[in-house]
Amino acid sequence: MILALVEQAGGSPDRLSLEMLALVRRLAEVAGAAGGPVHAVLFGDEARTAAAGLAAHGVATASVVEHERLDDYAPEAWAASLLQLMAARSPTIVVAAGSERGNEVMAHVAARAGLPLAANCTDVRPGDRLGITRQRWAGSLLEDAWLDGPAWLVTVAPHAVATEETVAAGATTIERFTPALSENDLRVRVDGRVEADPDRVSLTDARVVVGGGRGVGGAEGFADLEELARLLGGAVGVSRAVTSAGWRPHAEQIGQTGLRIAPDLYIACGISGAIQHIVGCKAAKQILAINTDPEAPIMEKATYAVIGDLRDIVPAISAEIRRTRGA
Ligand SMILES: Cc1cc2nc3c(=O)[nH]c(=O)nc-3n(C[C@H](O)[C@H](O)[C@H](O)COP(=O)(O)OP(=O)(O)OC[C@H]3O[C@@H](n4cnc5c(N)ncnc54)[C@H](O)[C@@H]3O)c2cc1C
Repeated sequence: MILALVEQAGGSPDRLSLEMLALVRRLAEVAGAAGGPVHAVLFGDEARTAAAGLAAHGVATASVVEHERLDDYAPEAWAASLLQLMAARSPTIVVAAGSERGNEVMAHVAARAGLPLAANCTDVRPGDRLGITRQRWAGSLLEDAWLDGPAWLVTVAPHAVATEETVAAGATTIERFTPALSENDLRVRVDGRVEADPDRVSLTDARVVVGGGRGVGGAEGFADLEELARLLGGAVGVSRAVTSAGWRPHAEQIGQTGLRIAPDLYIACGISGAIQHIVGCKAAKQILAINTDPEAPIMEKATYAVIGDLRDIVPAISAEIRRTRGA
């Protein structure tokens, strides 16, 4: 049996969790102890709503964790709950998304249970041991390894597996699970949150990202990129050269030490395409590079390229979009 930690917000499963379930479904089809039914575990308000939609992602049964002290994310309490579910259900494999929460909770589970954990996997091959392929160096290197132990813990690398939805054979059976939690399990709790600007499209969810690099020339140069992103319903992202110069906040940085994005289209403006940047945008379905240098490394990754000055090209694209929309 496979136990899958599914993250959700507002009654909808998180995209990374759905990617994780696509990998889990492949595992579930394997014969033997490693395969078998998928049991999901969900936390938080509206977890029941999110669980109800999981049948199309191969989930047979789901435990919705409810506890009076678990009103928000608490990594050790989530780990304690998972461990108690594992004791009750004896899964062979426990899987989570390689999100910040997924990796944090699974690290606690591994440490407490003394079980092997492989984070950021792109493939898993069950047998007597669990063969895995995992990302290293922010995805610039893939490593094959195996896990040996009575149960295997795995997190799935973000955007390494495409989400899959099929017609569900039946509904997911949902049950309530109330863990026994101690004060120790609640040492780390969320105290408050600062909401991002609700009108802004989140970089990690955006279908179109307009990226700006050193070639933008300064903070004021981003007005044209903002305009293009707004017209395309997308978000602005940047290279580290830009955050290092203080032109834009680190929250917008794409790359090894920034965010991983997976838009349908990444428009890279004045970005050379250093490997540390590429690891953050390589899951983009298409890349349009706008650069004065036809030899820039980004050209090797680009689906399309415009060789020229972004200060002319970006406003020209925006003007054309406005013209075709009659605005
Ligand atoms: C440990 C480590 C971690 C790192 N993490 C990250 C990371 O997370 N993200 C990241 O981005 N980088 C990261 N870096 C830095 C990375 O190596 C590069 O230095 C950085 O990505 C370069 O940013 P850039 O492409 O904007 O600038 P540059 O490399 O300077 O490229 C600027 C580009 O703009 C073009 N250009 C100039 N003027 C114009 C114009 N008017 N119109 C069009 N094109 C123009 C130039 O031809 C050039 O290709 C990291 C480095 C290290 C060592």
